[in-house]
Amino acid sequence: MKLIVINNQEWRQNAISLRKEAEQAMAKYASVNPYTNEVFATYENPTKDHVEDSLALAHALYKKWRHEDPSVRAETLKKIAAKFQEKRAEMAKIMTLEMGKKLSESLEEVDICIGIMNYYADHGPELLQPVDLPNPYGHAYYLKQATGVIMACEPWNFPLYQVIRVFAPNFVVGNPMLLKHAHNVPSSANMAAKLVRAGGAPEGSLINLFLTYDQLDEVIADPRVQGVALTGSERGGQSVAENAGKNLKKSTMELGGNDAFIVLSDADPAVLKKALSDARSYNNGQVCTSSKRMIVVKDRYEEVLEDMKEVYEGLKWGDPLLDETTLPPMNSESSKEKLQKQVDQAIAGGAKVYYQYPEIDSKGAFFRPIILTNVTKDNPVFDQEMFGPVCVVYKVEDEDEAIELANDSSYGLGSSVISSDIQHAEEVAAQIETGMTVINGRWITDGSLPFGGVKKSGYGRELSPLGLEAFVNEHLVIDFTDQNSK
Ligand code: NAP
Repeated sequence: MKLIVINNQEWRQNAISLRKEAEQAMAKYASVNPYTNEVFATYENPTKDHVEDSLALAHALYKKWRHEDPSVRAETLKKIAAKFQEKRAEMAKIMTLEMGKKLSESLEEVDICIGIMNYYADHGPELLQPVDLPNPYGHAYYLKQATGVIMACEPWNFPLYQVIRVFAPNFVVGNPMLLKHAHNVPSSANMAAKLVRAGGAPEGSLINLFLTYDQLDEVIADPRVQGVALTGSERGGQSVAENAGKNLKKSTMELGGNDAFIVLSDADPAVLKKALSDARSYNNGQVCTSSKRMIVVKDRYEEVLEDMKEVYEGLKWGDPLLDETTLPPMNSESSKEKLQKQVDQAIAGGAKVYYQYPEIDSKGAFFRPIILTNVTKDNPVFDQEMFGPVCVVYKVEDEDEAIELANDSSYGLGSSVISSDIQHAEEVAAQIETGMTVINGRWITDGSLPFGGVKKSGYGRELSPLGLEAFVNEHLVIDFTDQNSK
């Protein structure tokens, strides 16, 4: 056997170039229809000059916007929302073609985005008014001012919604946005940016760039960029947050979840059934706040298993563009393979299969929905997010055990509590270590409601007044005049 001895320096260089190769491979932008697995568009990474021009354009706009009242941009945002309304069908279709979600859900996604834009157009200027600060020295207040260009790095699961969640509030604030979307939804990213411009936004308001990871690193380090927003996995979050931290850039991280759906003894059966009807199947289970862990007190356990089986059994696989399809493919072959590996590990680790959808005869990226039980704490998937139609159901003795299990997770994004006693459900909600809890329903989103988590689910909030303030400069102004004569 021949031993190859390399010194530390060589080893480091090798490791760096291997990492770079892997990272370059991740940043190939292509539209692949997961229903047919056919590539229908590919995109090049930008040149150095293109990136520089984009930064310069966005920064110049920020400087210009500092002299403009937010109400001007709020008016424009209304027009942008109207443009999305006009192009609703086109926008929805491209999302379905690129990542396989049901067309009805793509249309709904466009509607949610229109709602978010209208929310910030209607409320943004008022929410950005200066705040008075009673104090012993003199008249004081803080302004809520723009800070500069924001770099947003977004995932594929809601190709438009993830972009608008950052764009709409920052547009009203006066922070132009650069977008690095996921490698598998480039056509959606392009169309979103085009519609924003067509709606009347000045050039530079939202610039879509097909950046490599290295280019992203450079953009984050650029002094003209003042904030970094990422929605995605822990993997992406760690890397981008590290880079933002190294460059002392403020960041928000909207990461994964392993949401608990707690069913208490007094849950109304009809309410429960309705919540379960899409809690783990909406967007084919590829939602950060999908109810991934059903935690059920023992007297309702069988009922939840049966209800969930009925939901999965009733799905009809097919082309996501067709109305009758209720089980679309997953967003990509690689996601399907990753999920299959996790399910295999779960079963090897002792999980039992309560139900699995029958074989699907298609070349698309279909995953057969599955219900797992008996996932114990030592199972490899116990503390993992499974991003697709995998429903894990736990039986617990009582409410205390349900809360303990819900909190036994390194994630803390969303949760649900199903109970007929609302006051009690609110008390339970307060004990769950997550950023959001829905009582008697599955996850929900709206422009007016904050979105975000704790623990490994990230930090910061998007949407609502909190999302508007994510990247503002709370600029104190105090009149000290009277103090001089004392
Ligand atoms: P991901 O791999 O982390 O990708 C998200 C974005 O980050 C993409 O644009 C991706 O680019 C980029 N990225 C990934 N690794 C990177 C790195 N090392 N350096 C620079 N950029 C990097 O996430 P995903 O798997 O596509 O998305 C699903 C995840 O998002 C799930 O965990 C889900 O729970 C989470 N999510 C969270 C929320 C929330 O609000 N909390 C909402 C939706 C989704 P490439 O595509 O080019 O790799």
